[in-house]
Amino acid sequence: MRIDLHTHSVVSDGTQTPTELVHAARDAGLDVLALTDHDTAAGWDEAAEAAEDAGLELVRGMEISTQHHGQGVHLLAYLPDPTHAGLRAELDRIVGGRGARAPAMIAALNKIDIAITLEDIVADVPGRPHVADALVRRKVVQTRDEAFEKYLNPGRPAYVDRYAVSLTAMIGIIAEAGGVTVIAHPWGRGRKGALPASELAQLASAGLAGIEVDHQDHKDPDVRDELRAIAHDLDLVATGSSDHHGLGKSNHGLGCNTTPVEQYERLLERAATASARSGRVTPDVVTP
Ligand SMILES: [Zn+2]
Ligand SMILES: [Zn+2]
Repeated sequence: MRIDLHTHSVVSDGTQTPTELVHAARDAGLDVLALTDHDTAAGWDEAAEAAEDAGLELVRGMEISTQHHGQGVHLLAYLPDPTHAGLRAELDRIVGGRGARAPAMIAALNKIDIAITLEDIVADVPGRPHVADALVRRKVVQTRDEAFEKYLNPGRPAYVDRYAVSLTAMIGIIAEAGGVTVIAHPWGRGRKGALPASELAQLASAGLAGIEVDHQDHKDPDVRDELRAIAHDLDLVATGSSDHHGLGKSNHGLGCNTTPVEQYERLLERAATASARSGRVTPDVVTP
């Protein structure tokens, strides 16, 4: 069984529709796919329908932008009830903050003489990746990564701060909504400082179900080994995934990292327990 538990569609910052993503996953030889767009469940229905048709197992998820000790941390949430009021309110605040962010980024870019307007940006809710793509189209930079490195990352001239919910609070909200949480790429891009083993232990006691171990941002095999050992010690599920963004991110092809079947089964068991405990109506896994 080939299992990929972290992917994006055009509903956030990927480049494929949920249907195209499901078909691409099947063509890539995957058996299980999780759709985890940023801060939204908007792609779930389309993906579920496509997965049923394609005979693919689909897990409905999302990747939520949180903060912990002043650092951004991405939290994968699987199978929560998307109608939970607390969850909906937080997602609205996150997405609303992002809506206000694009105009501020454009103003900052104009200030340093980069000619770009809101009309250059193609997205319903434009975020940093969409501004980056507009900079690529305008030939200001060659790639999305270059746009982040030169202009859009913290400390760069067009970085704009925005609302973020606390990581610990969101772990609690997802539990209330009957879902389970996994920290995405916990030690990618210098995040190790914010999430050492001692912090992960505290988050595990706060209800965290797992950590993403096999991810392209964990380039060093030693990092993966160390995280796997921590997951084992703390009884956390250790997942692996591509973080596929279609053409939006190179070197993240579907199935480039996968989750072992026994870890996937543990995750589903925890999700079933969380669902029962919450008393919410949570989404089922789409099974072929
Ligand atoms: Zn992420
Ligand atoms: Zn992601």
